[in-house]
Amino acid sequence: MTIDFPCVNCDGPIPWVRKKVYCTPFCREQAKHIRWMRSTIERGVWEDPEIAEARLIRIAHLNSGGYMPLGRRISIESRYAIYEKYNDLCASCGVNALNGEIDHISGSSNSLDNLQLLCSKCHREKTLANIHPIPEDSLRRKEIKILHDEIRARINSPKPIRDCDNHLSWSEKELEITKARRVEYHQHLLSFIQPLMIEKMNVKTIAKKLNDAKVSTYSGRGSWSRERVRELIADNGFTIEYSPRTHQSEYTPFQRDPL
Ligand SMILES: [Zn+2]
Ligand SMILES: [Zn+2]
Repeated sequence: MTIDFPCVNCDGPIPWVRKKVYCTPFCREQAKHIRWMRSTIERGVWEDPEIAEARLIRIAHLNSGGYMPLGRRISIESRYAIYEKYNDLCASCGVNALNGEIDHISGSSNSLDNLQLLCSKCHREKTLANIHPIPEDSLRRKEIKILHDEIRARINSPKPIRDCDNHLSWSEKELEITKARRVEYHQHLLSFIQPLMIEKMNVKTIAKKLNDAKVSTYSGRGSWSRERVRELIADNGFTIEYSPRTHQSEYTPFQRDPL
């Protein structure tokens, strides 16, 4: 009962358990940086020193496989523990770092002894100091060249090459694509629910059948609720009329006025 949707950033398949428009956090991050770079060109600030520095950091994160691979995400509990351990002060220069960053001292382990609190300035300096040229002979170098060529083409194209490159319209377009994919997935489930609808099963019973058969919801998370089943039925073009007397429901196709 699955259906494959391509990643909006790379056209690769999206793992079913994570029904998003991107296949990986890396693709989400790459597209986000491309939109940001395109916006800096449009705003005429590409050459500004702070923008150039921010660009270098973003590119370095992509070079190393993305800033926030899932394993790197720090739990709220660890965040609190680190703020407490450092009394809200920067571990490097001692200023108040309430608005600073939790830094991985080295590598990407999330254990408390590998985390420290840094103010934004020290964090940025450390990040910049850690950017090293990629060794000439490394295997990664070839992959990175391909990545950079792609990013260059996508930021320099006068018209956005992908929908997710368009910093002006993407947030709206992402909602649109998410909805279109949900409708497509729900229509794909019609063969499962149609016999149940013909039997006039109510929404609650259909939800139970879907859960018993372990049919995934569109988000891939949680079980089928009555609300989700109503959406599933609406996406297939039917209205629902429930009769409290019989506990049955009638399903009628929407009437579309051709005029
Ligand atoms: Zn992708
Ligand atoms: Zn500092």
